[in-house]
Amino acid sequence: MIESKGYAAFDATTDLGQFNFTRREVGAHDVLIEIMYCGVCHSDVHAARNEWNGTIYPIVPGHEIVGKITAIGSAVTKFKVGDLAGVGCFVDSCRTCPNCQAGLEQYCDTGAAGTYNSLKIDGKTQTFGGYSNNIVVDENYTLHVSDKLDLPRVAPLLCAGVTTFSPLRHWKVGQGHKVAILGLGGLGHMAVKFAASFGAEVTMLSTSPSKQADAERLGAHHFALTSDPETMKSLTMKFDFIINTVSAPHDYNTYLQLLKSDGVMVLLGAPPTPSQINAFSLLGKRRTLAGSLIGGIKETQEMLDYCAEHNIMSDIEMIPMHKINEAYERIMKSDVKYRFVIDMKTL
Ligand code: NAP
Ligand code: ZN
Ligand code: ZN
Repeated sequence: MIESKGYAAFDATTDLGQFNFTRREVGAHDVLIEIMYCGVCHSDVHAARNEWNGTIYPIVPGHEIVGKITAIGSAVTKFKVGDLAGVGCFVDSCRTCPNCQAGLEQYCDTGAAGTYNSLKIDGKTQTFGGYSNNIVVDENYTLHVSDKLDLPRVAPLLCAGVTTFSPLRHWKVGQGHKVAILGLGGLGHMAVKFAASFGAEVTMLSTSPSKQADAERLGAHHFALTSDPETMKSLTMKFDFIINTVSAPHDYNTYLQLLKSDGVMVLLGAPPTPSQINAFSLLGKRRTLAGSLIGGIKETQEMLDYCAEHNIMSDIEMIPMHKINEAYERIMKSDVKYRFVIDMKTL
């Protein structure tokens, strides 16, 4: 077994702390990655605090991983020792269902094996995520990372990046579309960058007046405060798409009203409790309420390559590992600019 050290949550309410554990030996198709940086996703907070239920403790969160390959298995062909590599939200899937065959492993019919908090690899061994010094992953679930970009700023692309890239591509968002991004956090700031890069007219919808200048710097053409009833009224039926990244429970109906006829609101945010939908929010204008989950391996690579080509990266605040609990508290206050990334040298 390979010795690993990291940070784990041991229950839903106490701070994360140091944790030593083991990972499987490097198998024929595996790569061993020395983790250099790991982004902090709001999903890590939901999971560490068991807000979605089903958390297996101790949990080592982290699914925005970049690092360097330090060993490869005998059958590995896609990577060599010394290569940069990335790992996102899942590390395996059944590989045979129609979704896996279509490169949509995130929608695997039997459920993809999460990078953390999953027993799916062999039915009994728990996966541990990127708040740690190393990880063993099958090469087919490992991404190539360009050395052209600033590595700490690449880490969040592995979740926040692909989660926003994928729906924008799926719904072919681009020139001629008016798009609203709801919530300026980790996902929201990447959504603004991609939507603007794809040629759409982008409006940032936020609860935080202090984020206006940043929204514009990130590429938003307009900024609107959702707490202002007059502003909200003026935006009725204005958008073709809304990319909803809000992490906390909120009223979807309020935002559906902002869609034109045939408009689509894509839910990316995963609040822990359900929300009620008024049928009239949808049927009066043939609107669609949709959802989207991260992205498959092929699309994640396409996104990373697109970012390398267009110099797109996350805006980050780098933190040492021991500041993780403070970072969680700031995430809960929507006070992140715009993704925390852990420098694994500090572990
Ligand atoms: P984040 O950095 O905390 O950003 C969330 C943003 O939502 C906040 O910055 C804030 O933006 C807004 N917000 C928070 N509470 C709100 C409230 N009560 N009402 C209205 N707006 C509120 O989180 P993230 O990492 O981007 O993740 C966002 C959500 O997406 C989480 O639920 C996460 O689990 C989920 N997620 C889903 C996927 C997927 O595959 N679908 C992937 C990753 C994450 P303003 O200050 O601008 O209002
Ligand atoms: Zn995530
Ligand atoms: Zn599958």
